[in-house]
Amino acid sequence: PLRLRSALALVTGAGSGIGRAVSVRLAKEGAAVAACDLDGAAARETVRLLGGPGSKEGAPRGSHAAFQADVSEARATRRLLEQVQACFSRPPSVVVSCAGITRDEFLLHMSEDDWDKVIAVNLKGIFLVTQAAAQALVSTGCHGSIINISSIIGKVGNTGQTNYAASKAGVIGLTQTVARELGRHGIRCNSVLPGFIATPMTQKMPQKVIDKVTSMIPMGHWGDPEDVADVVAFLASEDSRYITGASVEVTGGLFM
Ligand code: NAD
Repeated sequence: PLRLRSALALVTGAGSGIGRAVSVRLAKEGAAVAACDLDGAAARETVRLLGGPGSKEGAPRGSHAAFQADVSEARATRRLLEQVQACFSRPPSVVVSCAGITRDEFLLHMSEDDWDKVIAVNLKGIFLVTQAAAQALVSTGCHGSIINISSIIGKVGNTGQTNYAASKAGVIGLTQTVARELGRHGIRCNSVLPGFIATPMTQKMPQKVIDKVTSMIPMGHWGDPEDVADVVAFLASEDSRYITGASVEVTGGLFM
């Protein structure tokens, strides 16, 4: 049975990697998908993969749509939620924040700009999207499931990623606090902590690092974006109805 037949899912970072796989998975469960990315063409390509606007395939409610927005900008994020609501005549009941970036550098050499950019997209972006979506849900009395993509790095740190690790740790605390504040409104909020997943973000890592990471994973191999998307689909669905404030690790056993 389709688990998300009446859901409207907003996915950020939907133009690539995990966000694209999440969009595909949620659409397969019957959700209508609002696919957002900084790269509008990439978001449209994701929608094309889902069957495009007006498609009856996979989504009984009939349509998916692409949106271009920079989640680190408050005005753009507010406009995104307005556009999604105008397009689908309701607020998204599932919100998955996958937009994220890296700007790696050792602490001793990291620029203020590299720090600010990563915090702006990975942490402030999730605050802005979560706040705008929650306001839309609470004001209409709708229930929802908000899923924020953090990282195992937010729990254990990673050399060369003070900015990224701090942003991802921040997402965990934000998510737990949102879960506390909005549980009574029927809104759940969980974070997913992927380990090493093969996507364009990690493809640029040097082969030596890739081999070292692989040797540390108990399951012996990297994850696929679909491994994360399946967990997101569970957290989006009623199957997880009593789970909120959780940080679900999808790591193949890395850093137990
Ligand atoms: P990716 O680079 O393939 O995709 C990220 C997408 O986010 C891109 O399409 C990009 O255009 C979009 N994006 C970037 N900045 C944006 C902005 N300001 N506004 C809107 N969209 C923006 O990366 P991915 O590997 O699919 O990562 C997705 C999420 O998962 C990120 O938050 C990442 O930190 C997290 N994550 C990834 C891994 C991994 O191993 N790949 C591990 C843990 C966590």
